[in-house]
Amino acid sequence: MRTLAIRLAFTALVLGFTGAHAADDALLVAARADRAATLDTLRQLVSFDSGTLNGDGVRKVADIVEPRLQAMGFATERLDAKPSAGVNVVGRLDGKGSKKVLLLAHMDTVYLDGTAVKQPFRIDGNKAYGVGIADDKAGIAVVLHAVALLKAAGFDDFGRITVLFNADEERGSAGSRELIRKLASESDAVLSFEGTGIERESIRTGTSGIARVTVTIIGKASHAGAAPERGVNALVEAADLVLRTQDIDDRAKGLRFNWTVERAGEVSNIIPDQATVEADVRYRREADLEEALAKLRERVARQRLKDAKLEVAVSRGRPPLMSTDGARRIVKIAQAIYSEIGLTLDESEGGGGGTDAAYAATTNQAVVESMGLPGAGVHANSEEYVVVDRIPARLYLAAELIKRVLSAKE
Ligand SMILES: [Zn+2]
Repeated sequence: MRTLAIRLAFTALVLGFTGAHAADDALLVAARADRAATLDTLRQLVSFDSGTLNGDGVRKVADIVEPRLQAMGFATERLDAKPSAGVNVVGRLDGKGSKKVLLLAHMDTVYLDGTAVKQPFRIDGNKAYGVGIADDKAGIAVVLHAVALLKAAGFDDFGRITVLFNADEERGSAGSRELIRKLASESDAVLSFEGTGIERESIRTGTSGIARVTVTIIGKASHAGAAPERGVNALVEAADLVLRTQDIDDRAKGLRFNWTVERAGEVSNIIPDQATVEADVRYRREADLEEALAKLRERVARQRLKDAKLEVAVSRGRPPLMSTDGARRIVKIAQAIYSEIGLTLDESEGGGGGTDAAYAATTNQAVVESMGLPGAGVHANSEEYVVVDRIPARLYLAAELIKRVLSAKE
């Protein structure tokens, strides 16, 4: 104990000048001791189905998490998640400081009813399996346990900790995105608790936005053998369009533009009078999407068959989560926390998958993602698991990061 005190005093002295920290050994010990309890929370959370369309299932998650927040002193409310089936749970805990943080995790899973019975919770070696365990029941468990660790340590140097457990992330957050925006705008920082990888743990400050482009081409039918020149071949125009847009995709920028579906023609002896092509688009910045669409429209206008008619339709999915200076500052703190206990945390700015944390960032907010547990097999129906022996480090990371973000004095 005495050596520890001396070491802490010494480190504080050395690091004091740089404003850096030393590991909080007491918190680390508490996080290690909390591993079994966290597994037990996970077991409870994955013991039934809570697919986005299963409102009763999502409410059952709310029945577990709401009292746990209340027991820690949070004032809670349950808000309808229309047009989605379930409810959103919001908890607010006020402290004695000034900074405010929003902690975000989702209660719904991607799985259909009946999956939980087929895949009961089980621990096999270093893996804990269960339906939706990595995405995103682990996020909920880490939020509950990390905040409990801070409470137990008597930490109160914060203005407010707001927790949002939402109902419908897996289906685009239609019934929670406004709430995410509102709560984020009331906070200084947002930590989102989706999972991270098992090979390398990373914290994400940016994820791609998603859009789908459909081009419909109207030509003119004609007998393919007797009078092909009297037709306007929509398939030829479609094929040419696909080729004359190959340079829109720009990997270096994180702008992915790929044609994925083509439909044309019905019988082999008629010149097809209609074709459609669809492209999947992923982008990091709104401006990149606009630029890609402008390029597409310019290429569409340069048509090969002058009598063909081309129409472009764009449907937008989630916006991108755009990295901000504030988010990068949080990443630096998180990386320091991990390196103080001898671990490595990567920063990731890309990633094709969307996140509803992106809604939190639409007000230029400092948002970081992937604070949940390392896991694998998400959206895979059979083998979703989290890595058991990483639980203490992840609890410590979350608790210590919340603490340092909230007690930062700038
Ligand atoms: Zn998720």
